[in-house]
Amino acid sequence: MAIEETRIVTKFLRDRPQDSWEYAVAREHNQAYSALEAALKRDPNELIEEVKTSGLRGRGGAGFSTGQKWSFLPAGVFPRYLAINADEGEPSTFKDHMLIEGDPHQLIEGTIISAFAIGAHHAFIYIRGEFALGTERLEAAVAEAYKNGYLGKDILGSGFDLELIVHQGAGCYIAGDETGLLSSLEGERAMPRIKPPFPAVQGLFAAPTVVNNVETISNIPHIVRKGGEWYASMGVNKSTGTRIFSVSGMVERPGNYEIELGMSFRDLIEGLAGGVRGGRPMQFFIPGGASAPWLLPEHLDEPLDMDRASELRTMLGSGSIMAFDDTVDPLLVSWRLARFFAHESCGKCTPCREGSSWIEKVLYRMTNGLGRPDDLDLLLDFGSNIVPGLNAPFAQTTICALGPSTMSHVVSLDRCFGAEIRARLQKDFDKRRSLEVTPA
Ligand code: SF4
Repeated sequence: MAIEETRIVTKFLRDRPQDSWEYAVAREHNQAYSALEAALKRDPNELIEEVKTSGLRGRGGAGFSTGQKWSFLPAGVFPRYLAINADEGEPSTFKDHMLIEGDPHQLIEGTIISAFAIGAHHAFIYIRGEFALGTERLEAAVAEAYKNGYLGKDILGSGFDLELIVHQGAGCYIAGDETGLLSSLEGERAMPRIKPPFPAVQGLFAAPTVVNNVETISNIPHIVRKGGEWYASMGVNKSTGTRIFSVSGMVERPGNYEIELGMSFRDLIEGLAGGVRGGRPMQFFIPGGASAPWLLPEHLDEPLDMDRASELRTMLGSGSIMAFDDTVDPLLVSWRLARFFAHESCGKCTPCREGSSWIEKVLYRMTNGLGRPDDLDLLLDFGSNIVPGLNAPFAQTTICALGPSTMSHVVSLDRCFGAEIRARLQKDFDKRRSLEVTPA
């Protein structure tokens, strides 16, 4: 049987790649804003319950229940805000980028419904500064939504008011952390904040705030239109619905694929993405963005299920999968990731600020034949000051998840290639010693 995508949030933009972002086209061919019209006639609490029923979980990384997140806002505390995280800075993740450029009205409609459900009268879409075309189309779509009465005062005569602001970031990875994003929206440097207090209690301008990802919010109009139970009927276990995966690396057909959760990595990578380029053997793959611990070919038959990924001591994270063939040096991949995280560390907490650059330096010498026999163990040792226990991915000594991310590829090197790397370090060391000139 042919392996196929299950397109919900990507259907329209795939069907009409030439003009799916245009208001008139989205209205005529994609029922744009029809879910909003229906939602505004419902009780906001009922909408929250519908989203809870759907089992929709955040598509940005943490995978938290969206309906639960909405219901954490303290009752009777106003103003409250909705912030959409469109920063998408995780290396090799490019799905939100596509949704913004291809179907901005779907995102705007989802934003308005979500704001109505939580009782927010101001919403922000925090978009990555580099997304020039996405920003242009999103701003044009927001202007159309205002013009046609979907934003502003008394939306469609419902009595509900909403102002939607598109805010461009200046291009830093850490603005994708929800509290880093809020700091940036407030005009500060995008430095993450210690939690608690959580944004639901004290977020933007110290008011209750919900932060949701673009793909998450793009699902909302479909859930309102077809019901939470329809959405929950797809997927596997507590990973309901569909999800977009950005597949990249050494595959024949890199790209975004929207699939029903529960599909195996093999069907996604080998079936939809065409398998490893040139028919070469796969060496390893990263299942959830640069921050996720790596998996091996023996895991290809595992399902794309967020909880199963946790059992495998990794995560589906931002929904990006990178595949590497047997020509790739895993140490080089690790060093490249370390360099990225060291560059992007905001410097607020010591273990991440100091640790990330030390990790990069030690990996550089390991990669370039200058390593010492115990360098991998040295990395694991000082990495345990960032992630105590190392194998408990959510224990951390840092404010945000970037700290543990600096260690996930090092832990992966040890788990997947520990014996080979230690042998290589010893060999490099012996070779250097044999070349040493003994003073006369
Ligand atoms: Fe900044 Fe790193 Fe601390 Fe996050 S973990 S707040 S990026 S120093």
